[in-house]
Amino acid sequence: MRDTEGDRPLIWIDGAMLPRSQAKISVFDHGLLYGDGCFEGIRAYGGRIFKCRSHIDRLYRSADKIRLEIPYSKDEIDRVMRECLKANDIKDGYIRLVVTRGVGTLGLHPFRCPRPGVICIADSISLYPPEMYETGMPIIVAKRPRIPVDCLDPRIKSLNYLNNILAKIEAIDAGVLEALMLNKQGEVCECTGDNVFAVKNGAIATPDSESGLLEGITRRFVIDLCKKLGLPIEERILRLEDVTGADEVFLTGTAAEIIAVKSIDGNPVGDGKGEGPITRRLREGFREVLAQGAPED
Ligand code: PMP
Repeated sequence: MRDTEGDRPLIWIDGAMLPRSQAKISVFDHGLLYGDGCFEGIRAYGGRIFKCRSHIDRLYRSADKIRLEIPYSKDEIDRVMRECLKANDIKDGYIRLVVTRGVGTLGLHPFRCPRPGVICIADSISLYPPEMYETGMPIIVAKRPRIPVDCLDPRIKSLNYLNNILAKIEAIDAGVLEALMLNKQGEVCECTGDNVFAVKNGAIATPDSESGLLEGITRRFVIDLCKKLGLPIEERILRLEDVTGADEVFLTGTAAEIIAVKSIDGNPVGDGKGEGPITRRLREGFREVLAQGAPED
């Protein structure tokens, strides 16, 4: 998709579709200066935008929680994403929607930034090596807890990802790509960029929203898929032992989709022989839904 002149992908910024080399923001943008803003990562499959409405709704919810008023309607944002896919001839790809506080002074004051900045990037993505979907991926448990809800609610998909990035560095230092994050009570929350599910004796569980996590769109889709397939699914508090002692563990996320966990801190999950039957059933179920046309609700 990229070309040598740096023109591709074309990027939409504040109403203009610009070549990549010209798609720039001000050094005074509070998105850069303070991580003040919010974003979404969205996938397109076969030219349809997977769970488009849910992502747009979450973006507006995040913006609302940080008192940021997006200067476009939801329908306009929807159109911008489709325009970006079309302009770059992308049918299967990844969309990054970013809303920044906008250009302001060097002080923190968010309301001295007169107009939020809106950016839409459509490109390709591949998060984990394809073979990991068969073998499962090794992860660790991060020492650093997930930021508490009353400090910065993880339901806000904000531009401030340092809590996750520092846990991701723990993972990278340990030679793996993901880290499981616990909350301050020691309960399981989520991974640095993915939600987590555990399967024990055929029963599936995932931490409830109160645990302090980003309510993933893929997480919700998988919960609904479990119900559709008649698989028992529960949202509840998960202790670390529920995950380390599970038969299967898998992660969900827009970029990751559904991926099995092979080991935690070097200890095998289940028989440690790669993707388990429930994870496989769900991954196939996900593909079957997409083959019928990705749902855009
Ligand atoms: N948790 C965190 C911290 C994330 O950043 C993400 C998205 N990358 C997820 C969970 C998964 O959310 P979604 O399924 O909406 O992509």
